[in-house]
Amino acid sequence: MTKRDVYSWNDLLSAYAKMGMVENLHVVFDQMPYCDSVSYNTLIACFASNGHSGKALKALVRMQEDGFQPTQYSHVNALNAMTDMYAKCGDIDRAWFLFDGMIDKNVVSWNLMISGYVKMGNPNECIHLFNEMQLSEMLKPDSYTISSMVSSCAKLASLYHGQVVHGKVVVMGIDNSMLVSSALVDMYCKCGVTLDARVIFETMPIRNVITWNALILGYAQNGQVLEALTLYERMQQQNFKPDNITFVGVLSACINADMVKEVQKYFDSISEQGSAPTLDHYACMITLLGRSGSVDKAVDLIQGMPHEPNYRIWSTLLSVCAKGDLKNAELAASRLFELDPRNAGPYIMLSNLYAACGRWKDVAVVRFLMKEKNAKKFAAYSWVEVGNKVHRFVSEDHYHPEVGKIYGELNRLISILQQIGYNLDTNIVLHNAGEEEKFRSISYHSKKLALAFALIRKPNGVAPIRIIKNIRVCDDCHVFMKFASITISRPIIMRDSNRFHHFFGAKCSCNDNW
Ligand SMILES: [Zn+2]
Ligand SMILES: [Zn+2]
Repeated sequence: MTKRDVYSWNDLLSAYAKMGMVENLHVVFDQMPYCDSVSYNTLIACFASNGHSGKALKALVRMQEDGFQPTQYSHVNALNAMTDMYAKCGDIDRAWFLFDGMIDKNVVSWNLMISGYVKMGNPNECIHLFNEMQLSEMLKPDSYTISSMVSSCAKLASLYHGQVVHGKVVVMGIDNSMLVSSALVDMYCKCGVTLDARVIFETMPIRNVITWNALILGYAQNGQVLEALTLYERMQQQNFKPDNITFVGVLSACINADMVKEVQKYFDSISEQGSAPTLDHYACMITLLGRSGSVDKAVDLIQGMPHEPNYRIWSTLLSVCAKGDLKNAELAASRLFELDPRNAGPYIMLSNLYAACGRWKDVAVVRFLMKEKNAKKFAAYSWVEVGNKVHRFVSEDHYHPEVGKIYGELNRLISILQQIGYNLDTNIVLHNAGEEEKFRSISYHSKKLALAFALIRKPNGVAPIRIIKNIRVCDDCHVFMKFASITISRPIIMRDSNRFHHFFGAKCSCNDNW
């Protein structure tokens, strides 16, 4: 076989690789009477870029067995594929092990590792890695690196780091990239700064549905209903077809403002525009009906849905059930116990409802069931950005190095707030707990600790304090923040799993509707 023959075979391989036809490429490779390192490189790169990390690594081994010295290119491709696979499976430690051992990392290697950390919800690591990438290898981040970084800052509501990355975007001259700009719009919204998001949105030369959705959802979650709905109208005037996410944005905007008629109108318009409402849209309707006191109607809606109700539907129903809706709450809880018996959330919600009705025997039964099933509480955290670093707290936290000072500050704040009318809401704890236990279990929620920490570090600051909570804020913390916003004379912006709360002057932007 001549060299010329190998060239033709390699051309064929590279044609298949360009079209992403992995199987065909593999078949051709196996039929080749003779191959060279170029053939192997094409095979490995094609496996790697199409998510076949195991095959990429096997090909690398075979390349060595066949007596070819793997090039830097083939090594990096195979290792990138493996890193990506581990990161996608959530095995971030193994991904890191491979990544850390790579001598010739390229931009793709860094991007894979950074996006792995974003997916794992470890944004501090992302920021660290991003800084290291630029220092150690003098590599230029590309638009994928930047958009991963921006979404990591969005997850953390880390405005400082978000602005730093934004600055980098301008310096790199990629502020015209739709991918990057859409991520920036989303980031500013998730930091509660919709004005900056709007400026970026308006200056974008082209937009896609993702960009429109980012701002509509951003407005909805920040309680800017009018802006969300006006933008939705403008989106349609400009001939962009709303998708499922757009409708979630529009429906949640109306729900947050208790606009019952409008929600129904927009819900009906989903079908009128040729789409079918999804479970997410039904969940919005259940929230609305439940909050307006029509839990029975919400149950009718669930029973008439064309979809099988999922976990989200039942937990939405349970969350809107009040004392008078015990029957429906029991129905929702029983479905949730079947779907995920080890999630403690529904047991706690049902037992709180029984407690509110004084049905202590039923409280005991549910608590027993929860123990028997070994149900686990979802880990609840709060984050706050102070001094360009994001700090994370759990309830009754004892891990933070400044724990003594934080509790001191929080106790001081509680007694000041009590003098101006704040009372601990002990309805949400078990009736048989002692007074001290009740005090601790409410007073030391992660969000209050995060606020106390921000106040220690920046006692005379004027900038808003941004706190992120990964579950819905409890009634007591909500009241606490309203009182605190008077005493500290600073806005507190809090994002919980449902929406934003902008506290200032004893009021919250959600009008106590969340
Ligand atoms: Zn709380
Ligand atoms: Zn609120």
